[in-house]
Amino acid sequence: MIDPRNLDTLLHPQFDAKELKAATPVGKGLGASPGAACGKVVFTAEDAKAQGGAGEKVVLVRLETSPEDIEGMKAAQGILTVRGGMTSHAAVVARGMGTCCVSGCSDIAMDEENKQFTLAGKTYHEGDYISIDGSTGNIYDGIIPTVDATIAGEFGRVMDWADKYRTLKVRTNADTPADAKKARELGAEGIGLCRTEHMFFEADRIAAFREMICADTVEEREAALDKILPYQQGDFEKLYEALEGNPVTIRFLDPPLHEFVPTEEADIEALAKAQGKSVEDIKALIASLHEFNPMMGHRGCRLAVTYPEIAKMQTKAVIRAAINVKKAHPDWTLVPEIMIPLVGDIKELKYVKKFVVETADAEIAAAGADLKYEVGTMIEIPRAALTADEIATEADFFCFGTNDLTQMTFGFSRDDAGKFLDAYYDAKIFENDPFAKLDQTGVGKLMDMAIKLGKPVNPALHIGICGEHGGDPTSVEFCHKIGLDYVSCSPFRVPIARLAAAQAAISCKG
Ligand code: PEP
Ligand code: MG
Repeated sequence: MIDPRNLDTLLHPQFDAKELKAATPVGKGLGASPGAACGKVVFTAEDAKAQGGAGEKVVLVRLETSPEDIEGMKAAQGILTVRGGMTSHAAVVARGMGTCCVSGCSDIAMDEENKQFTLAGKTYHEGDYISIDGSTGNIYDGIIPTVDATIAGEFGRVMDWADKYRTLKVRTNADTPADAKKARELGAEGIGLCRTEHMFFEADRIAAFREMICADTVEEREAALDKILPYQQGDFEKLYEALEGNPVTIRFLDPPLHEFVPTEEADIEALAKAQGKSVEDIKALIASLHEFNPMMGHRGCRLAVTYPEIAKMQTKAVIRAAINVKKAHPDWTLVPEIMIPLVGDIKELKYVKKFVVETADAEIAAAGADLKYEVGTMIEIPRAALTADEIATEADFFCFGTNDLTQMTFGFSRDDAGKFLDAYYDAKIFENDPFAKLDQTGVGKLMDMAIKLGKPVNPALHIGICGEHGGDPTSVEFCHKIGLDYVSCSPFRVPIARLAAAQAAISCKG
């Protein structure tokens, strides 16, 4: 009878109830990642990192975030964005970190250049205090004190009951050993999605990654990738260690390359200098990466088709890491799961898989190791679901990327839909945000169809979900009903998914 969503209040800081009563919101966005935060307004990831690192409580306010902002997001108490929906970058990353986030508050008039914004008639400058509630989406002027989360003994008891009844496994979406460790503490049984792109933004590797983007020849690109390989291998080793032999699915590079290029003049100049190119050349290259519709552009497996050397480097890193960790822990079952994103046609998967398999087999042979590995794909483009019987012949596993699958089935941009969804609720066209709660009628039908098409062709196929719906209780129930093997969600939603999976198992038994 427990509503799994209530677990959020046990796991995240909340506003002091008495103080909250006296407060009136000055604005509202989407409650994109639960919890409450108050702090000084900062406008850049650098400022968040500097001030947050010095012990200051800060709320990072941005038009929208990109992978470049990751370090600042880690240092902030809360994140507030003007644009974006429930599955845009800020929301997904904040949920992963357990940081409070309000996204898509389009009432904010933002002036990033002058580090100020206006909301409800007041202009906020850097250093002014605001408070945000990532569960309701409410934004408040000034400080509302928060109280920390406390987990009582009963929490563990309820979780034990849940584990006794559920049949659906629960994995986590985690990109760092710290997130993975947190998720393990909260009961995750594996990693269902490691988004490797976030690893490229750490200070010690972004330069090499940009060098790779600027390369004129395959040889230059390979030389830059060789610099990244040891870092990536080290990251994967740490993830395998944190998971102690439980499954780890590593997704190959997904976002469009323009997300990695510098935006600040000084960084552009530094890159030009490092590359021995003119600032104009670098600016022209950055301009050439511009796309009108990046989420439907040069991303996912399309990057691996254009630049197979990226997939080869990531394969080497995955396999070398697994071989090393297996050596240290021979008793662990360690079967790396390599996941190719955004496949829509079996030929794309076949093409990329060939490089992956050749590279992996060569690494295993060179090391004289005995290692099994799997190559699977995300099902996140409607065409992949419609042709799942073909795709299953080449895939060891499917993982439903329902963020993109929702975006592409509805034709709604996951970053912009928030602007008109309120009108849809008012007009009673929608009751819920389809990016938060799975649309079982349409998107769910594609999932069900993909399973029914895929399984008979490849009975060993294992199937999961790693879109944000993997942590939403009603969506978890649906996943149980259509026969998924696991759901994967951000670390702090793992207990919610465990409870929801148990409730689904009990209610389906009748
Ligand atoms: C998805 O599309 O559901 C997914 C998990 O991938 P991403 O959110 O990184 O596009
Ligand atoms: Mg996706």
